[in-house]
Amino acid sequence: MTITEPVLSVFETVESEVRSYCRAWPTVFERARGSRLYDEGGRDYLDFFAGAGSLNYGHNNPVLKRALLDYLEQDGITHGLDMSTTAKRAFLETFQSTILAPRELPYKVMFPGPTGTNAVEAALKLARKAKGREAVVSFTNAFHGMSLGSLAVTGNAFKRAGAGVPLVHTTPMPFDNYLGGRVPDFIWFERLLEDQGSGLNQPAAVIVETVQGEGGVNVARPEWLRQLAELCRRRDMLLIVDDVQMGCGRTGGFFSFEEAGITPDIVTLSKSISGYGLPMSLCLFKPELDIWEPGEHNGTFRGNNPAFVTATAALDTYWRDGVLREQTLIQGGRIERALRDICSDDPGAGTSYRGRGMVWGLEFQDKERAAAISRRAFENGLLVETSGPEGEVVKLLPSLTISPAELEEGLEILTRSVRETG
Ligand code: PMP
Repeated sequence: MTITEPVLSVFETVESEVRSYCRAWPTVFERARGSRLYDEGGRDYLDFFAGAGSLNYGHNNPVLKRALLDYLEQDGITHGLDMSTTAKRAFLETFQSTILAPRELPYKVMFPGPTGTNAVEAALKLARKAKGREAVVSFTNAFHGMSLGSLAVTGNAFKRAGAGVPLVHTTPMPFDNYLGGRVPDFIWFERLLEDQGSGLNQPAAVIVETVQGEGGVNVARPEWLRQLAELCRRRDMLLIVDDVQMGCGRTGGFFSFEEAGITPDIVTLSKSISGYGLPMSLCLFKPELDIWEPGEHNGTFRGNNPAFVTATAALDTYWRDGVLREQTLIQGGRIERALRDICSDDPGAGTSYRGRGMVWGLEFQDKERAAAISRRAFENGLLVETSGPEGEVVKLLPSLTISPAELEEGLEILTRSVRETG
């Protein structure tokens, strides 16, 4: 009998072992539209993942695609370092008129490298430069990116270990509800700040996610965020809100901190800012913090002009009125009801849910269960990922433009997948 070795795909023979999402979703995707992806075998999948929050307006959104195709057709600038271009001007003008001005946000706009971690690195560097101090406070279960500065303010032990060098000049503090509400908010943080013997160097800044996406969909209460902003003001620390995943409408408002009524000193945005899944990121800061020397922080890929074109089209289409925000809150309510039903289906299992807008997490006591549900959901035609320090949370992140019928269909598949793995 001849035994034939299974044929390994080029992904296995050539691509690095570091690949991850493809392991959870073992197929080869070919095309996508809206909230549906199709693999090369023609099978379709509903998307409750949305490119980890990069596709808030869906895959190949037709309005954004038209703008992009027109731009390319006219030989518009594709790569522009930080040269002034018509595409960048249109973006800045539109961002100013649709997002910043109506919210009375005074921010200057910086284009760092194209990914979220580039924006975080710029934010940390600027905060340290502005305050002339090295210490930065982050929060338990935070996620801010994989480059060394961002990793130093990220909680996950596995990811941190990958650095291979000490991750220093940062101190973690308990995120909202980390201690189960047993101690008053910020008591530890305040104590360390006021005690000259605490060993905490006076921080330049505090970096926070309003909802920790990778950390398990941990939602900070608006009053906790307000207290944090007040503490930062009182103690002369800059407040950085990392809105890379929760910005661009994910929680309802364009910025996730709007609900709390706070104005951070520095804000990072990426993922859905281009609206089309094209790499782009922004670091926003109050004008008095604009103390950069020309070229002091730069990079080759800061002028992704096709991304500026789709970003402008996305702002024009979705942010000139409050329709998308309303729809996000309504559809979010529908998700919440479905998760409540899932939890009450099996009250003994200790399953819980939490979220805001269109980002929701379903946490299981049995830590293996979330991965099993994600796998079963894939078999049933739904893409959902897991998050949390041990992957114990099923994370729902559908596009904001998903139709009510598709949302219903996805929630139905999720409910079935939970039952089938019970
Ligand atoms: N900050 C937050 C809050 C994120 O969720 C992420 C990505 N998941 C990042 C930063 C890093 O972004 P990127 O992967 O584009 O570098």
